Amino acid sequence: MKIYKAYKFRLYPNKEQQELINKTLGCTRFVYNTMLYEKETTYKEKKITKQKFDCIKELPILKQTYPWLMEVDSIALRTTIFDLEDAFKNFYRTKNYPKYKNKYSKNSYRTSYVKNNYKNKIYENIKLDIINKTITLPKLKNMKIRGYRKTKEIKGRIISATVSKEINRYYVSVLYEEELEEKNIVPTKVVGIDLGIKALVITSYGEKYENKKYITKYENKIKNLQKWLSKKEKGSKNYYKVKNKIKEIYKKLKNARKYIIHKITKEIVNNNDLIITENLQIKKLIERKEMSKYISDASLSEIIRQLKYKSKWQNKHFYQIDTYYPSSQICSHCNIKNKKIKDLNKRNWTCSNCKNENDRDINAAINIMWEGLINNIKLFI
Ligand SMILES: [Zn+2]
Repeated sequence: MKIYKAYKFRLYPNKEQQELINKTLGCTRFVYNTMLYEKETTYKEKKITKQKFDCIKELPILKQTYPWLMEVDSIALRTTIFDLEDAFKNFYRTKNYPKYKNKYSKNSYRTSYVKNNYKNKIYENIKLDIINKTITLPKLKNMKIRGYRKTKEIKGRIISATVSKEINRYYVSVLYEEELEEKNIVPTKVVGIDLGIKALVITSYGEKYENKKYITKYENKIKNLQKWLSKKEKGSKNYYKVKNKIKEIYKKLKNARKYIIHKITKEIVNNNDLIITENLQIKKLIERKEMSKYISDASLSEIIRQLKYKSKWQNKHFYQIDTYYPSSQICSHCNIKNKKIKDLNKRNWTCSNCKNENDRDINAAINIMWEGLINNIKLFI
């Protein structure tokens, strides 16, 4: 089985390299927009959908007309055409029409790995040295990178590298393909997971992973600044200052969330062999409005996404209950459904049948564990 892993590093280009990166970002945007325009006009005039290989054939002509395109990585320009094709594929599926890119669009370009044998010398256009923390990219010579401090080796082969610019920082994300040996693990540790309101994740072992304090700190800071912003004169110097500040904290908040979620999902997958969760879409439909506000939080679907792929990476089992299952209303002690348990703010409730005092979230996680276990009995035989 082939799996793909992306490693994102902070990139430290010198002034000259920065200029070339900026130029490449501009050129790939130009090619993207030009090809999008060409596609649209060809369709309007001839009712023909231009395919990506038609566009690639036109690239040399475009370069002759605009010689400055030749100054940048030619593979990145070609990859842009593939990205445009993907944007159209996405449009047929989701009805989101590809947009023209401007300076404020996502600022990144992608280049593919190429290996050549020239006069008995191997030439690679992307080279990553994880020990000395340097990277070589097409047209750009060695650059310092930072990240993955403890990593001494990356397994697999490089597929592509994406260079991005966020405010005034540069990043490179390197995509690796790794061949994974498939093993059939008979589960010995099973865990049920409830995704919650106050705690992000609650396990059937009774562990609760809360949103960290600094997350709340960032959220409050943003709230306060937004209040402040509403009092400022729109378009004034101070207005933009505050706006940028908000942007900055948002980025910090995003990174902090990402870090916490990675930590949680890594721990859960490392410690268990069969991981069982609910289906968020179904949960959203059945639980109250109050709950759906939290479920729409991207963090929860991100947790599920990570549990899924991290389980796969370790040959572990991931199972999502895909039918309606009233996990918060069933008493995990006697299995009787308590219809009255609907108040989501109530942390504990007493079972009307066995009189057991249930912690709302842990009780739900235990029920999820049992439901998943019953559906996966075949794994144990
Ligand atoms: Zn009970």
